[in-house]
Amino acid sequence: MSLADAIRARALELGFDRVGFTSAEPLAGRVFLASWLDLGYAGGMEYLKRHLDRRGDPALQVPGARTVICLAAGYTPALPSSGDPGRGRISAYALGPDYHLWLVERLRLLWGFIAAEAGRSVHGRWYVDTGPVLERELAVRAGLGWRGKNTCLIDQRQGSYAFLGEILTDLELPGDAPGIDRCGTCTRCLEACPTQALVAPYLLDARRCIAYLTVELKGAVPRELREGMGAWIFGCDLCQEVCPWNRRSASRETGSTEERAAAQPSLVELLELDRKAFKARFGHTPVERTRRRGLLRSVAVALGNAGDRRAVPALVQALLDEEPLVRGHAAWALGRLGGDQARQALAQALDHESDPAVAEELGLALADASRD
Ligand code: SF4
Repeated sequence: MSLADAIRARALELGFDRVGFTSAEPLAGRVFLASWLDLGYAGGMEYLKRHLDRRGDPALQVPGARTVICLAAGYTPALPSSGDPGRGRISAYALGPDYHLWLVERLRLLWGFIAAEAGRSVHGRWYVDTGPVLERELAVRAGLGWRGKNTCLIDQRQGSYAFLGEILTDLELPGDAPGIDRCGTCTRCLEACPTQALVAPYLLDARRCIAYLTVELKGAVPRELREGMGAWIFGCDLCQEVCPWNRRSASRETGSTEERAAAQPSLVELLELDRKAFKARFGHTPVERTRRRGLLRSVAVALGNAGDRRAVPALVQALLDEEPLVRGHAAWALGRLGGDQARQALAQALDHESDPAVAEELGLALADASRD
């Protein structure tokens, strides 16, 4: 068995679903990345601008690199929405333990195997969306799929619900044929995006993307995008859910009560989490990334979108939250829900609020709530 075949077999044994090889030559996608950044589509993700040269050239990232081994490990898609307005939605990838941890462990084991089998001293480094590596571009070139119009990596059989990892090594291994674009005339993902984040096929304005707004954005969600967030409180799967290539994997209709509670948690319960309770519930999961204040900000938006006044007491309580970000978004939600209790609470909070941004939210929310 060739070394490449042995690596493939070991990767599958370790739980990866797909493995491919490509050269460490510079990527054509580096030009696209530079213009995408120039257009401002990365929003506040400043880290993407760092090491731009290395991102587009694996051999600069790992001197002497000849081959990139690309790997994909599928995950289970989320259950369809229950339609219960009191429940939020969390993206499927974030429902388990932090994938960085277990994926890195698998890569470490695979590297141990490669180093033992190579027959010479070898050099390599591995990444799980942690380093300056254009992982989707590399995966396409290694034949793991194509970059869809929704910008996700799609495989003909396994769809797009997959984590990616890669090993950059100085080993010379034969490259695989690149993936072929099979989106055809389909535009479902562009039509499904409620915030019009896919401004053109293959072109994402991250500043409008719900995944960015709920996970990466540190400050207030622009008011004009809040309604489009619907019930999403961490990430978003809409452009994957509508993709025909996910039909097979996204056909789950049922799940256990625990699964549903994790994927579609009670919004009021989340709004009541203090720091300790947040840590206990989301520590060591991807949701931890947005911190308590980021999650509760999105929870407040989802409650405002749900239109159920039973959430008013919890939102009134959130007007007293220690985090201005939470107070400001709770005010917005109360403005949307309206009613006497919401109006009184907003007026009272406005009298005492010292943070100018929150005071502005309160004033606008009060005007909104007074319209009904
Ligand atoms: Fe491509 Fe259609 Fe899937 Fe969008 S929904 S990624 S256009 S196949």
